[in-house]
Amino acid sequence: MRDRITFKCSECGEENYIGTRNKKKHTERMVIKKYCPKCNKKTEHKEKK
Ligand SMILES: [Zn+2]
Repeated sequence: MRDRITFKCSECGEENYIGTRNKKKHTERMVIKKYCPKCNKKTEHKEKK
């Protein structure tokens, strides 16, 4: 089963990316490096619970 997850910028809190994940394979919180338009740079985006 796939869950929809939201990735939030760790610096400004903006929700910039939406993805899916396999709950069985990834139990830990995902962190991705993505461009944030608000910060105008690449920041860490953390999965929002
Ligand atoms: Zn940001």
